[in-house]
Amino acid sequence: MTAGRILILGGTGEARALAGELASRPELAVVSSLAGRVRAPSLPAGSVRVGGFGGVDGLAGYLRDRRVDAVVDATHPFAATITASAVAASARTGVPLLALRRPGWTPGPEDRWTWVDTLAEAAGALAGLGERVFLTTGRLGLGEFAALDGHWFLVRSVDPPQPPVPRRMRVLLDRGPFTVDGERALLTEHRIDVLVTKDSGGQMTAAKLTAARQLRVPVVIQARPPAPDVPTETTVVGAVRWLDRLFEPR
Ligand code: NAP
Repeated sequence: MTAGRILILGGTGEARALAGELASRPELAVVSSLAGRVRAPSLPAGSVRVGGFGGVDGLAGYLRDRRVDAVVDATHPFAATITASAVAASARTGVPLLALRRPGWTPGPEDRWTWVDTLAEAAGALAGLGERVFLTTGRLGLGEFAALDGHWFLVRSVDPPQPPVPRRMRVLLDRGPFTVDGERALLTEHRIDVLVTKDSGGQMTAAKLTAARQLRVPVVIQARPPAPDVPTETTVVGAVRWLDRLFEPR
């Protein structure tokens, strides 16, 4: 007998780990949802659906039609639109919503981090920090750096960046996890003066920050959008506990 139907809004390692944890629970019917942005996504265990829902109306309709009992928003901390949709659709339908959010990164005493709110601000912050830039903010939004002809960019992303892009640029298609040794070698080989990243948090991509600290490379880091005002867990274990409490027999 199905005790609960769960929708995981995914696209992250945590979402995949949660789907993997729940795959061995026959009493739960779990569907993971992906946006469909990445050409060859790492797929979670169990059922998967791909593509947008069509805004709040579409997501609320999906929750009602499929009689979903709980939603776990395990999307990336910067995926603010789908998170807002989940909050609104949950409020409209009464389906409980949990946010699974890994903690952000915090600088240590030896780090030289400049916090910014937008990529436009990040582009502005580069003046004076150096000419050779390692850009790890994803394949979108590079237009903010396109006018910086005085800089050279090493851009790392999973899929090729979308134009407009900087004129002087080299693209590295790769996805984590990365190692500190590998990141240090990359920064050294390309004579990187400054790293630009966003506060994604987590272990998969944190090595570049350690490498930057070791090589005394300054970091421009984009702060996260506001977190949703809903029950939140920071670990997969915490999310499983929340689901267990929700579905425990009364
Ligand atoms: P976004 O701006 O918040 O969402 C844009 C639209 O994409 C949403 O309105 C929704 O379309 C659709 N969408 C997003 N996530 C979805 C999901 N898990 N399932 C179904 N539809 C989804 O999102 P984004 O920043 O482009 O990120 C897209 C996906 O990539 C997310 O799943 C996220 O976890 C993952 N990701 C994002 C980043 C990042 O830096 N932003 C990094 C790594 C992974 P409708 O309105 O039509 O429902």
